[in-house]
Amino acid sequence: MKRFVADLHIHTCLSPCAELDMTPLRIIDAAVKKRLDVIAISDHNSAENAGIAMKIAQDKGIKVLPAMEVTSYEEAHVLAIFDSIEKVMGMQEIIYKNLPDGINDERLSGYQVVVNERDEVLGFNKRILFGATGLSLKAIVDATHFFGGIAVASHIDKEIFSVISQLGFIPDDIAFDALEISYNTKRQRAESVFGAYKSIPWITSSDAHHLNDIGRRTTSFFLEELSFEEIKMALKGERRIEWSNVE
Ligand SMILES: [Zn+2]
Ligand SMILES: [Zn+2]
Repeated sequence: MKRFVADLHIHTCLSPCAELDMTPLRIIDAAVKKRLDVIAISDHNSAENAGIAMKIAQDKGIKVLPAMEVTSYEEAHVLAIFDSIEKVMGMQEIIYKNLPDGINDERLSGYQVVVNERDEVLGFNKRILFGATGLSLKAIVDATHFFGGIAVASHIDKEIFSVISQLGFIPDDIAFDALEISYNTKRQRAESVFGAYKSIPWITSSDAHHLNDIGRRTTSFFLEELSFEEIKMALKGERRIEWSNVE
């Protein structure tokens, strides 16, 4: 088995809360410098910069998984991670149908920038991407699975926008493939607080909104080869998972 280092939660300049220099080109360069093997591009409720990130990564020795961080109507975040642009676009179509009406107020919420592989601005997404969708957590997880994706409960240790902050617990009837612990919670602390949820695999990632954040927390997957199927096997307990950059 070979070790592959993953940071499966990175925002681009399409997320209104991310820095404008979080372009796919700069993200890939930063991820390569940090020796990451696989990253997920996971903007809020949209995947419009994911395809270009995949294209840029093609000859740079790093794998990009197209993803989205979807906000449920309970205001909890879910990472929906896929292995092809077609699948993430299928998911995006469902998400876009369930976004709040209205136009993003750029001065208030921030710009949502779609760029090309040369860092040139292609346009501004005018949808309200940061808001809650009309979809329940269960509906989001089921839709993610419909498209063959991985559904991860984002940063369950955060006091806002997490399944636990919003519901108080992780419901048994929602089939999360993994739980994410954010970069600022140490392993020991996570074990003591979330020990009840050990039946679901845990990953940790950077939730990068700035270039310097990339790779500040990573998950190592021990796989036969770097593929989405192998990562899925790891999440089913058939391959080893370890946290890296963690005390
Ligand atoms: Zn989040
Ligand atoms: Zn995030």
